[in-house]
Amino acid sequence: MKTLVLTSDAGFEHRTPDGHPERVERLEAVMRACEGHEIVHAGPAPREALERVHRPDYVEAVFASAPEEGLVSLDSDTWMSPGSLHAALCASGAVTAGVDRVLDGEAEAVFAACRPPGHHAEPDRAMGFCLFNQIAVGALHALESRGLSKVAIIDIDVHHGNGTQAAAEREPRIVFGSIHQGWIYPGTGAAHETGRHGNIMNAPVEAGTAGQAWFAALQPILDRVEAEKPDLLMVSAGFDAHRADPLAGLALEDEDFARAGAALAALAKHAAHSRLVCVLEGGYDCPALESSVRAFLRALDAA
Ligand SMILES: [Zn+2]
Repeated sequence: MKTLVLTSDAGFEHRTPDGHPERVERLEAVMRACEGHEIVHAGPAPREALERVHRPDYVEAVFASAPEEGLVSLDSDTWMSPGSLHAALCASGAVTAGVDRVLDGEAEAVFAACRPPGHHAEPDRAMGFCLFNQIAVGALHALESRGLSKVAIIDIDVHHGNGTQAAAEREPRIVFGSIHQGWIYPGTGAAHETGRHGNIMNAPVEAGTAGQAWFAALQPILDRVEAEKPDLLMVSAGFDAHRADPLAGLALEDEDFARAGAALAALAKHAAHSRLVCVLEGGYDCPALESSVRAFLRALDAA
């Protein structure tokens, strides 16, 4: 698949306290992994794009919280520096621009390499390093601005995508499936959480799960998305299920992320008009993040 990388240098200006796992070096590692790909720099998403997912008073509160100097915390582990608001707006801008590139036929696959991550951000609160939920913003952009009927989101980050699930709970045109380590942060994502529209799937796996068993747990989500025939497949591409990751306890290797990339690209080809938009979420061991993003992108290229 022809794969474009969407990014913004604003991501380097989002600062967190010393020792915080979600740090500038992550984006440096990811951009090294993206070398050799065509890179497109995105600007900020407009406020109305955010307000399709987030309550206007929440968006206003994030704008109002941006410090002129130093750091402020929005929750126990979510911080803003002077550059964070612009970084978060550009992260959403990278995803909406990536959706447009794929829908306009300029690429089959997009990898949005941005900071901060987004999948924990709920309609009315920041959580888990996330300010705005850029993958949900991108999905609503596809549905509302581009007239698509159905968007599938598969979340392979090791943590449950509670914010994206909250967006899907009130938007039946989104089909959301998450595979994650169960019973760790944020504590949601049990298998019985299917949503009142039945458009949500959760596959929690136990600590220590490695590639083979992880894929077996992912398969029902892939099968459901194949049956749904979405107009676009989006992926919350977190790489913190890697064996080396310090924040969780799964045991995937680089080649498992290559296999995931190949499976997701094949699914997009067969069931979603060869339209795939992947969005960086977590991944906190920088060498493992770099090598697994590189493996993932190679698999997209080869699909
Ligand atoms: Zn994560």
